[in-house]
Amino acid sequence: MNEYNEIINKLIIWYQFNARDLPWRRTKDPYHIWLSEIMLQQTRVEAVKPYFERFINTLPTIEALAHADEETILKLWEGLGYYSRVRNLQKAAQTVVAEYGGRLPADYLALRKLKGVGPYTAGAIASIAFSLPYAAVDGNVLRVMSRLAADARDITLAVTKAAWEEELTSVMPKGHEGTFTQALMELGATVCLPNGMPKCQGCPVREHCQAYKKNAVLQYPVKSPKKQRTKEYLSVFFMVEDGKIAISKRGEKGLLSALWQLPNCDREKAVPIALKDWGIISGEIKNMKGQKHIFTHIEWHMDCYYVAVKHKEHNGFLWLDKDVIEKEYALPSAFKKTWQEGCHILEEEIK
Ligand code: SF4
Repeated sequence: MNEYNEIINKLIIWYQFNARDLPWRRTKDPYHIWLSEIMLQQTRVEAVKPYFERFINTLPTIEALAHADEETILKLWEGLGYYSRVRNLQKAAQTVVAEYGGRLPADYLALRKLKGVGPYTAGAIASIAFSLPYAAVDGNVLRVMSRLAADARDITLAVTKAAWEEELTSVMPKGHEGTFTQALMELGATVCLPNGMPKCQGCPVREHCQAYKKNAVLQYPVKSPKKQRTKEYLSVFFMVEDGKIAISKRGEKGLLSALWQLPNCDREKAVPIALKDWGIISGEIKNMKGQKHIFTHIEWHMDCYYVAVKHKEHNGFLWLDKDVIEKEYALPSAFKKTWQEGCHILEEEIK
C-alpha cells in the first residue's frame, strides 16, 4: 500500500491524544504487557481490567507466577474462560525463570518459543515493551488494514494474516514501534469498528482509506462464513449431602480440561441411571432452570437438577462447603447460573 508514512504519522499523533487510559498502558513492564495481551484474547477490555489488576497484585512478578499453585492461578482467571491461556502463561513463566532469570527476553524468536505466545502476542510484547520492529496482527488490525487497502483477501486465512504481518513489520516506524502497534489496535477497537459500525467521520486516516473512497466500507474485511457450532446436550447436577456440594474434575483433554465442575453427563442418559452409576442414592430431585452456554465451536444445552443426596459411595467427587468452593475452586462460567440457583435453593432449605 502507498502512503504508509503519512498513515503512520497520523495514527501516531491520533493515538497520543486519543488512547484510552488502560492499566497496562501505564507501564512498559514486559510482564504486564504480556499478561494483558493474553487476557485480551477473546475478552473485552472492560472485562479484563479488574482481572488484570487482581492478577498483578496477587502475582506481581513472573517469578511469583511461575511458583504459584494451580488453584490460585485458575481462581484468578475464573470467569475469563479459555483456561488453557493461564496454564500456558504459567508454563511460559517457568521457562522464563529457568532460562532468562525471570525477565522476558527482548527477542522476538525467543518470545515465540514460549508456551502460548503466538505471532500476535510476540509482536505486541516485542514492539510495545522492547521497541522492536515486529507487527502484532489480530482481528482488529486485519479489519483496519483490509479497509484501508480495500484488500479482498479472506482474513480468516492464515496466509492473509502472515502477509499483513510481513508487510506491517516492514514499515514499522523506528522509535515508535510500540505506539504504532497500539494505535492500529486502538483504531480497530474504538473507530474502525466491526459489524457495519465504523465511525469513519472521526477516523484520522479517512482520506487514505480505499474502502471509504469507494464507498464500500461494509464490504471489508472479507471473511469466509464461520462453521456452525456443534450442539451438546447435558444433564448437570447440583448435589448436596449434609450441606456439602459435589464437584468433579474434568478429564485432562478437551474442552475445559482438568477444571472442577458440577457433575454432569450426556442428556441421553436417564437421571436415575446417572446417579446410580455415581453410587448416589437420592432423596428429592428438583428441576432447575435449563441453561445454554456458548463456547467458540460448541454450544452446551443443559438440563439442570438439584439433588438432595441420602447416601453416597466413594465416587471420586469432592464434597465441600459452598464457601470453600467459592474461595478456592474456579468453576467455569458455563456452570455459574446453575451454581447460583443451587446455592439459593440450599440456603432456603437450611432456613
Ligand atoms: Fe475504518 Fe472508516 Fe477509517 Fe476506513 S475511514 S479506516 S473504514 S474507520
